[in-house]
Amino acid sequence: MLAVHNLEVVYEDVMLAVRGASLSVDRGQIVALLGANGAGKTTLLRAITGLLNVHRGKITRGNATIDGAPLDTRSAAAVVRAGVGQVMEGRRVFVEFTVEENLRVGGHTASTRGMQEKFDRIYGMFPVLADRRTSLAGYLSGGEQQMLAIGRAMMAEPSYLLLDEPSLGLAPMMVERIRDLVVEINSTGTGILLIEQNAAMALSIAHHGYVMENGITVMDAPARRLREDADIQEFYLGIG
Ligand code: ATP
Repeated sequence: MLAVHNLEVVYEDVMLAVRGASLSVDRGQIVALLGANGAGKTTLLRAITGLLNVHRGKITRGNATIDGAPLDTRSAAAVVRAGVGQVMEGRRVFVEFTVEENLRVGGHTASTRGMQEKFDRIYGMFPVLADRRTSLAGYLSGGEQQMLAIGRAMMAEPSYLLLDEPSLGLAPMMVERIRDLVVEINSTGTGILLIEQNAAMALSIAHHGYVMENGITVMDAPARRLREDADIQEFYLGIG
């Protein structure tokens, strides 16, 4: 289980961006993390993946654990080695690399033979990437780039995958494909933490969900309960 305990994160030594957030993700689960812009979702994710330093944030309290042992969040590479992959907001593929070169970056620790097996596995999961393997990533559509970003993270065969707004800016049909992919990845035993503005999409596939407000996880419930909650319906699902 990947767990975050009572996390507190400060930016520039003044701004408390996360002020006591806890959550956990089991390998069998898809967990949704909802919250308005600025609630602290991305900061929490960066605190897990070791990218906080780059953004001048500092964990002042709390930590993340994996199967009960502290996760070394001081370096992004250590986090990947521990089995946690992530897809950052905005896709961020290497646009001047080919599809296959992008994937290679994600699987860089593998041997040559191991690499081919990984390519085959990812191309099986994402046929569209197989068709475009020699294209520059910059020529792919937004949805295809999102798939490439997910495929690249999956090359490291993570036990947990953290996704920051994977459906942002995509056409409805692409959103559905990304949703189906998340379900498929989870069914192979990868736990998913899904940050989404598209709460309807996230709650339609999540087992469990958290809502974050002002840096605190204020709700923690099975996704089914969140879908039925009047406040969630009003503020996140646009119903009522
Ligand atoms: P969004 O959906 O807009 O990304 P979020 O819930 O992910 O929102 P964060 O991006 O984690 O929220 O931001 C939480 C707070 O921390 C916000 O007030 C934001 O302005 C601030 N913040 C984020 N990154 C930095 C940074 N690098 N330096 C200083 N403050 C930051």
